Amino acid sequence: MARTEGDSWDLANSVGATATMVAAARAAASKRPQPVITDDFAEPLVRAVGLDVFTRLASGELDPDDLERSVGFPRMVDTFAARARYFDDYFAAAGQAGLLQVVIVASGLDSRAYRLRWPIGTIVYEIDQPEVIAFKAATMSEIGAAPTAKLREVGVDLRDDWPAALQEAGFDPAHPTAWLAEGVLIGWLPPEAEVRLLDSIIPLSAEGSRFAADYGTVTGTSPAAREQARLATEGWRQQGLDMDLTSLSYPGEHTDVAAHLHENGWETTESRLTDLFSAAGLPELGPAAEQVPAATIKFVRAVRL
Ligand code: SAM
Repeated sequence: MARTEGDSWDLANSVGATATMVAAARAAASKRPQPVITDDFAEPLVRAVGLDVFTRLASGELDPDDLERSVGFPRMVDTFAARARYFDDYFAAAGQAGLLQVVIVASGLDSRAYRLRWPIGTIVYEIDQPEVIAFKAATMSEIGAAPTAKLREVGVDLRDDWPAALQEAGFDPAHPTAWLAEGVLIGWLPPEAEVRLLDSIIPLSAEGSRFAADYGTVTGTSPAAREQARLATEGWRQQGLDMDLTSLSYPGEHTDVAAHLHENGWETTESRLTDLFSAAGLPELGPAAEQVPAATIKFVRAVRL
């Protein structure tokens, strides 16, 4: 179903299901020998959502290679693991630099507020749709998980006035912040909302603040990318899931996040997926995986000078 203004979702449908997908990939990655990441909360969270294919992937019942073949996304599990690792490392560096205020935008089933070792005094704000926030909080409480930092959840749509909601929750723009936007500036917001998001973050960022994100588009626009997307939808359907990434993402030119921050006085460091794979010690992507739109996504870490 195409996106509409003000549409909403939970973790079992629409854009929410993509959060469950990446959490399932993190759960599968955590089970590998010498894992790139260890996210012990991903499996119980995915189970609680109850989408069969993701539960089977998260629990190890479904072979990741088989699923990756079926949906035409080779190295899917490694891709989301390498991405998670890149952002885990970003937070470790931000903590070492003394940043104690963290904002995770579009947090989905991100469990960093429960699984990372944060410096004492860290406050983590999580922003996502109200139903997504409420579901994760309730599930974490049911499984007896305790945050490893002070956690403040903000249930608000990122197309609305989220800065006001964030500040109502206690966010202080006078303190430097480590921001994360993982898996959202890749087509899930309209292009103008992406720019608005960045333009809201910039004035809320005291000197020394940091920002990290991936950006681009997961679906691509070329005829080859459209055909790949059609095959992927068919593959997910065979797995019992109605998920069409093309109709979930906003078409059009998406924001060059690194360029936008650079123009606004931030120092930026960009990476490609291949760089993340080598940093994580994973075997190279390989020709098949380099063809999928996910391989075109870029990554940035930035510091406000
Ligand atoms: N960052 C998480 C991760 O990497 O595991 C989740 C990524 S998931 C691919 C995309 C997330 O963006 C979902 O949790 C979804 O609810 C959130 N999102 C997308 N558009 C949003 C909006 N307009 N307002 C609030 N959240 C939004």
